[in-house]
Amino acid sequence: MTDLLTPVLSAQWGEDNSWKLSRYEATGGYRAMRKALGMKPEDVVTLVKDANLRGRGGAGFPTGMKWSFVPQDNPNPKYLVVNADESEPGTCKDMPLMMASPHTLVEGIIISSYAINGHTSFIYCRGEVLHVIRRLQQAVREAYAAGYLGKNILGTGYDLDIIVHAGAGAYICGEETALLDSLEGRRGQPRLRPPFPAVAGLYASPTVINNVESIASVPSIVDNGADWFQSMGTEKSKGFTLYSLSGHVKNPGQFEAPMGITLRQLIDLAGGIRDGHQLKFFTPGGSSTPILTGDSLDLPLDYESMAAAGTMLGTKALQIFDETTSIVRTTLRFVEFYKHESCGKCTPCREGSWWLVQLLMRFEAGTAQEGDVDKLLDICDNIGGRSFCALADGAVACVTSAVKHFRSEFEQGYTTPAWELFPYEKSALF
Ligand code: NAD
Repeated sequence: MTDLLTPVLSAQWGEDNSWKLSRYEATGGYRAMRKALGMKPEDVVTLVKDANLRGRGGAGFPTGMKWSFVPQDNPNPKYLVVNADESEPGTCKDMPLMMASPHTLVEGIIISSYAINGHTSFIYCRGEVLHVIRRLQQAVREAYAAGYLGKNILGTGYDLDIIVHAGAGAYICGEETALLDSLEGRRGQPRLRPPFPAVAGLYASPTVINNVESIASVPSIVDNGADWFQSMGTEKSKGFTLYSLSGHVKNPGQFEAPMGITLRQLIDLAGGIRDGHQLKFFTPGGSSTPILTGDSLDLPLDYESMAAAGTMLGTKALQIFDETTSIVRTTLRFVEFYKHESCGKCTPCREGSWWLVQLLMRFEAGTAQEGDVDKLLDICDNIGGRSFCALADGAVACVTSAVKHFRSEFEQGYTTPAWELFPYEKSALF
């Protein structure tokens, strides 16, 4: 089974001192940076475009294309901001990446900033993960000392500074425009798009915002070429990526594999579902992506197949739930998260997520009334697509998909509490 894995980003994970510059250089680190700084910036953009690297933060927007939107005739500075605020429930790939190989990210930032003609770059990391922030700061310090950052990098005439910024720990600050507000020192709330940040972002200047994994993938593409990257994956979803498995599997963790691997293969790699149990449902890419059931075990986990199945690949955070799980309680837990994290700017999201929680609590307690399933769907209809950002859409995706697949289980909530239907959960919780 392990021949299905393609360790590139995770190649050094678990090795002694993998986060140190000396170790990174000993395994070919900063070779790609030297190569890129010898190229024209626009050729680096073309290379990443040709590789068809798609954003690994969830949306899958083509990275090279985003870079090419930066208006080079704009006299303002161009910024690269790395979104390291990973907070989608179930998503746990960027933090281990930054802990184990922070220099992969630093090298990616140097190449990517050079490509867009940027001279200042930010890593926006959530404040709770102090250990990750310290590791990043250490790596940035090492890179300055080695002459890879600062003025006239390796005598090429190119200057770049990296600033590691700690957020205060709000899910909304992972939304790219709220992140910019927060970075500018304001309360993090989404901005209306367009204009997209690539045109008017940080301090109203052209700003590329990319996820950690996207930027960390860039050195390997520069090093090995676009064809190498294109040789992995499916027709439109190219390359390797980090899938995170959590929940009811024997060995949860991160698995780096080509785009298009199936969940059945990933579950095998994770040692299978825990003994004596079967898969009930899973999230393909965190809780804001509509859930799927065992019928989708053999679908390629790529952007197109997930869209065709009515969901999204998202952050590739596969949360696995077996038959002991109450779909009602899971949905309630997910929506409680969105209610708590709603920034409050848009009324449908702020009020609607609160109403969803009230109603779902009734289903959980077995006190919902005839017709409440339709009420649930009606509320969702009044939230999704009616807010500035995707938080509201995420809050309803788990509800509508849960009802789609398990409507009868919700209807049981007219008479029976979830903890009576799922006694295993009761014994685990009470
Ligand atoms: P989006 O599709 O609106 O945008 C994706 C990226 O492409 C953005 O950087 C955006 O600026 C850029 N873009 C899109 N159209 C553009 C255009 N015409 N011109 C220039 N740039 C353009 O998605 P989004 O709302 O930014 O993010 C939603 C995604 O975030 C979801 O897929 C979800 O899975 C993911 N997500 C991830 C996390 C996490 O922890 N990593 C948390 C929550 C949500």
